[in-house]
Amino acid sequence: MGADIDAHDADAPIFAPRAFRLSDSDADLIARARGFGRRVLAPRAAGHDRDATFPIENFRDMHRERLLGICIPREHGGTGAGFRTYCLAAAEFGRYCGATALSWNMHVCSTLWSGALADDLEMSADDRGAHRARREAHYRRILDDGAVYSQPFSEGGAGAAGVVAFGTEARPVDGGFVVNGKKIFASLSGAADYYGVLCTERREGAAASRRNTLYLAVPAGAPGVSVTGDWDPLGMRATVSRTLLFRDVFVPEDAMLMPRGVYFLAATRWPHMFLTLSPTYMGLAQAAFDFTVRYLRGEMPGTPPVKRRMFPTKQIAVAEMHIQLEQTKALWFQAVSEACANPSKEQVLRAYAAQFTVMENANAIAAKAIRTCGGQAMLKSLALERIFRDSRCGALMLPWTAEICLDRIGRDALYEAGETDE
Ligand SMILES: Cc1cc2nc3c(=O)[nH]c(=O)nc-3n(C[C@H](O)[C@H](O)[C@H](O)COP(=O)(O)OP(=O)(O)OC[C@H]3O[C@@H](n4cnc5c(N)ncnc54)[C@H](O)[C@@H]3O)c2cc1C
Repeated sequence: MGADIDAHDADAPIFAPRAFRLSDSDADLIARARGFGRRVLAPRAAGHDRDATFPIENFRDMHRERLLGICIPREHGGTGAGFRTYCLAAAEFGRYCGATALSWNMHVCSTLWSGALADDLEMSADDRGAHRARREAHYRRILDDGAVYSQPFSEGGAGAAGVVAFGTEARPVDGGFVVNGKKIFASLSGAADYYGVLCTERREGAAASRRNTLYLAVPAGAPGVSVTGDWDPLGMRATVSRTLLFRDVFVPEDAMLMPRGVYFLAATRWPHMFLTLSPTYMGLAQAAFDFTVRYLRGEMPGTPPVKRRMFPTKQIAVAEMHIQLEQTKALWFQAVSEACANPSKEQVLRAYAAQFTVMENANAIAAKAIRTCGGQAMLKSLALERIFRDSRCGALMLPWTAEICLDRIGRDALYEAGETDE
């Protein structure tokens, strides 16, 4: 190769706009996310990972650059990105700081689920009107004040897997609800301004039902809200996902991020809503591959310019990683492109397959990157070992863990709705 040939571009778009037929406006927004990731997120990632501290300054910068409102509908003053556009932008974040991308996802979902998803679902005219008025207030807080929302649903039981009703409960009272319960692994705990709590509305004497799930924005400073426990995990350390306790927390009815019954409707009719944890890991898979190419070419900043690419074993490993990455991209791009209300069974199975593939392959590619690049590449002074640790977390994320995806694909591929072997 001649010296005049450009270095490998480790910051090229994951999904090239022309090849993936993206519109100009989508390509611009995704490029903006990529630029933000490289310029703002990457330099801060190692420090927050080391100290397990939350990168709140990233969210302040996102507010300044109007990225907190990426999925707020245009009619409310936001950017109005749809599901796929958001996923592609979030994947670009994931390349530079997995923990920020994952936390940003929790925030953005509060606007995507209450915005484009809710607009796709049936509700009465009264509910629709009340919902628009309520979400306008939430969106104004985000757009005007830079408010950050999180999304605690995990409880350490079967609620987060969607099997039973959430154990966190909201008792209806005059003017609102009183919330009691506990959420574990709550990313942005202690940093978010509002916790978007999934809980079960429970009237006196009524049985708990998933149909009565409420999605409430609980102010972090409300009396009765506390953050507890340590946070010293393997990966995604900067998400600071500690435990949240709610003890007799009053929230007004305006705290509803979706009208009654609509979260349950969304979970059953708009299942791709749970695919939104995957973009972060799509970005991590790309980052592990890019690291390897750069490193083997002797172009990794902070390392001596030693080339290792001439060894056939390295070339074979890179070929295998490339194939795995392209398989992951192709399946994931299809799944995020076809997300919609009332998808076919085939589309839902593909969404599970995409989630499984991204989560498992991100870690497999990162593991192979370490083996291929060698010992000097896994020092903490370089990003690869963080990418490896962060990528390990993807398969554990409820409600669509890798195990649950396998479980559902196997069952749903073999049984039609209502079929049994009796
Ligand atoms: C970095 C990070 C950030 C997170 N951030 C958030 C957040 O912001 N909000 C949030 O709500 N959660 C968050 N989570 C939590 C996550 O979704 C899980 O709830 C968490 O990993 C705890 O899981 P557990 O060990 O309690 O799982 P368990 O419920 O004990 O399950 C263990 C495993 O068993 C399998 N399993 C569980 N239920 C079933 C079932 N019904 N059928 C078949 N298999 C099943 C699953 O594979 C699961 O991984 C985060 C997790 C991580 C790692």
